[in-house]
Amino acid sequence: HLILMDCQMPEMDGVELVRHLAQLRYRGGLVLMSGEDERILHTVKLLAQAHGINVLGAFKKPVAPTMLEQVLTRHATERGRPARPDRKVYGVVEIERAIKNGELVNFYQPKVSVPDGKLVGVETLVRWQHPRDGLVFPDQFIEVAEKNLLIDDLTRVVLCSALRQYRRWRDSGLSLSIAVNVSMNNLKSLDFLEFVTRNAGEIGMDLTHLVLEITESQLMHNPLTVLEILTRLRLRNVTLSIDDFGTGHSSLAQLRDIPFNELKVDAGFVHDACRNSSRRAILEASLDMARRLGIQSVAEGVEDIDDWKFLSEANSCDIAQGYFIAKPMPAESLIAWEQEWSVRQRTK
Ligand code: C2E
Ligand code: CA
Ligand code: CA
Repeated sequence: HLILMDCQMPEMDGVELVRHLAQLRYRGGLVLMSGEDERILHTVKLLAQAHGINVLGAFKKPVAPTMLEQVLTRHATERGRPARPDRKVYGVVEIERAIKNGELVNFYQPKVSVPDGKLVGVETLVRWQHPRDGLVFPDQFIEVAEKNLLIDDLTRVVLCSALRQYRRWRDSGLSLSIAVNVSMNNLKSLDFLEFVTRNAGEIGMDLTHLVLEITESQLMHNPLTVLEILTRLRLRNVTLSIDDFGTGHSSLAQLRDIPFNELKVDAGFVHDACRNSSRRAILEASLDMARRLGIQSVAEGVEDIDDWKFLSEANSCDIAQGYFIAKPMPAESLIAWEQEWSVRQRTK
């Protein structure tokens, strides 16, 4: 049930062995070890995972007995647990109906200031309260919505309900910024600009409190319209955030050409940065770049106390977000979370 593999072997290297294991439909665990560069090890791990192999750990040699022990203990508890079922992806008709029937609900994840831990804003993350299947996550419907011209309706529903929630918080004395995810596909026509301004105006929102997190899953179709909309949003003081920075099309060229004033470093460079030198190098360079560009930096994927400590000590990141601080939650839970978080901050 368990293979400990050195990536560097005589006659057959680790990558080739991984391919054979995949062909044999090996269902046990695999622990990788190597004296090579950490980045090679990381790639071998990705390859093995892409083949559906359960990689329990990847270690640079020499491997300390404690590290091996942790992996083996985890393996022992995981065995016997049923494999997670594949996530169902929904079809266009059902998603369209969900939007119309008001089945989408917003969850909110806190964004806190790194230097003092204060709550500065929330990110809106949509969920689908499915009548039969329960709570459905965005990876099961956003992509289909984007490909089938439903993303405009979806974004509008999410944005309006986020704005109403913003007003409730403001009325109860809580001063926050509110972030909404926007896809490049929302930026195809100037209507979007008008829609945002009008709805924010109706609740008397100062647009400095609105953050639009822009992600791009495909190349821009009409860069001029996109540029025009984004620039005009900035002129109206909306914060524009480049989301998932460092992945996909969230690139340096975009940072150069679009007037972003917030940079969100993707979780893949944040979590474990203290233990992984390539993540750390990319994280630190991104934070440094944000500072030099004079824009706000956000680290997402702060999953554990080590991630949080690393950022606090690095002294170069403005805002943090992640499971260590809080998971996305329904609006009603925010106040109770904030109290619990401030206790955690005081007793740390
Ligand atoms: P995102 O904008 O990068 O949002 C962050 C995702 O990471 C969220 O997943 C969040 O729950 C998760 N996350 C937060 N903290 C941690 C952490 O510490 N570790 C890890 N591993 N993950 C963490 P979620 O809610 O499932 O959303 C997935 C993606 O779906 C979002 O990624 C965003 O791209 C998209 N999405 C969500 N809501 C909307 C929306 O209203 N409109 C659009 N266009 N896209 C949305
Ligand atoms: Ca986001
Ligand atoms: Ca992100």
